[in-house]
Amino acid sequence: MNRSSYSPTISIASNGDLQCVRCDHVLASDGASWKQRVNRVDEPMGLLCEVYDTGSDDVRVRRFFCPSCGTALESETVLLNEATNDDEVHAR
Ligand SMILES: [Zn+2]
Repeated sequence: MNRSSYSPTISIASNGDLQCVRCDHVLASDGASWKQRVNRVDEPMGLLCEVYDTGSDDVRVRRFFCPSCGTALESETVLLNEATNDDEVHAR
């Protein structure tokens, strides 16, 4: 199947499905939010590394993982309880 790269960990199939590059698991189709369909972990920045510790739990790193193989797909920095920054991906 032809596919293009969305990121180093996510590819776009010719039918528009977003797939994990490692295991080909379909993360989302029909323009649905892939971030809402994968495993997510939110942790204070200070847990990653001491130099990122803001002294508060308000700044979080949100990581997204493939529900099939556990590959780390993407991360984003957010404020506590901030909504996920959904990406819109469209097949060409
Ligand atoms: Zn996977």
